[in-house]
Amino acid sequence: MTNDCIFCKIATGAAPAERLYEDDRAVAFRDIHPQAPVHVLVIPRKHIPSVSKMEESDSDLVGHLVWVARQVAAQEGIDETGFRLVVNDGRDGNQTVGHLHVHVLGGRSLQWPPG
Ligand code: AMP
Repeated sequence: MTNDCIFCKIATGAAPAERLYEDDRAVAFRDIHPQAPVHVLVIPRKHIPSVSKMEESDSDLVGHLVWVARQVAAQEGIDETGFRLVVNDGRDGNQTVGHLHVHVLGGRSLQWPPG
């Protein structure tokens, strides 16, 4: 838990979010500025700043986030039509919140490549 991290606060319930899923290691909630009909963020409860800052010992936890993303996709009804998982990292990756998170985007046809 980092006191000034908004996603740590969401994880503990100290800040509001529309939560779709939670377990002992992860929380999923709707993005406040959705870029697709379904736009959910999956975060670890543990404060990991980014993929580039994760330790090898975080590998199981980060893998669990993908599993949670898959669960959320099914819950949101986009597991048959498809979806995209995005993890932005650092400046060039346009990461704006310094707590590792997986975007789950779907509900429309997504373009490739990204900008
Ligand atoms: P990124 O640019 O990959 O760091 O993504 C951060 C995402 O967090 C953006 O899509 C924001 O819209 C979203 N976001 C920021 N603050 C909140 C919040 N309080 N609740 C929900 N989503 C948020």
